Amino acid sequence: MSLREQLCEYGRRAVDLGLVIGTSGNLSVRQGDLVAVTPSGVALDRLTPELCPIVDVSGHLVEGDTQPSSETPMHLAVYEATDALAVVHTHSVFGTVVATTMTELPPVHYNALALGGVVKVAEYATYGTPELAANVRTALEGKQAALMANHGGVTIGPTLEQAFEATRLLEWLCEVYVRGLAVGKPAILTDDQLAAVVERALNPPSFPRRP
Ligand SMILES: [Zn+2]
Repeated sequence: MSLREQLCEYGRRAVDLGLVIGTSGNLSVRQGDLVAVTPSGVALDRLTPELCPIVDVSGHLVEGDTQPSSETPMHLAVYEATDALAVVHTHSVFGTVVATTMTELPPVHYNALALGGVVKVAEYATYGTPELAANVRTALEGKQAALMANHGGVTIGPTLEQAFEATRLLEWLCEVYVRGLAVGKPAILTDDQLAAVVERALNPPSFPRRP
C-alpha cells in the first residue's frame, strides 16, 4: 500500500472506531525525507490518495493540490526528534478528558508500558504553532504517546499501523482511568510492579510438548 493509501485506510478506521469526528485529527507517514500527511479541511473518512499532500521533512510541499493539515509542523517536529515513521493525532473523547483535567495519565494497567508507562500531558499552546510542536516533543521523550492539554492525543510508531494501535491503546487506557475515577480511586502500578511485568514479558512461560 502506498503512503497515501495508508492514510486513507487508517483515516477511515479512525472515524469508524469513533476516535475522530470529521476533520478533528490528522495522520502522517514518513518514507525517507518525504512525509505523506492528511489534508486540511477534509473529513478523515472522505480521503482519497490524490487529496493527501506530500511534504519534505523541512516542510516544503512536494506533491498535491491540497493544504497539509494545520498540525503538520507538530508532525514534522516529532519526526525531527524521534525515529518514528508515523504519527497519529486525534481529539478522541477520553484522551481529551484526561488532557483537560490532569497533567499525566498514571499507569493503572500494565499495557501502559507499551506506550512508555506514564503518559505526559504537553503544556497548552495554540494548535499548529511551533510552541505546541515543542511542547509535544518534550512530552514524547522516550515515549510512544503524549496528550496535549485541552486538545487531544498523539502517538508515534515505526509504521502507521503501530502508531494507530498506540492511539487505540491510549484511548482505552484513558477510558479505564476516567471510568475508574467515577467508581473509586484507581490504584496506580508501582515501579516494582511495572519492572516485574517487563521481566515477565522477557521470560514468557514455556509449554513443553507432551512426550
Ligand atoms: Zn488537533
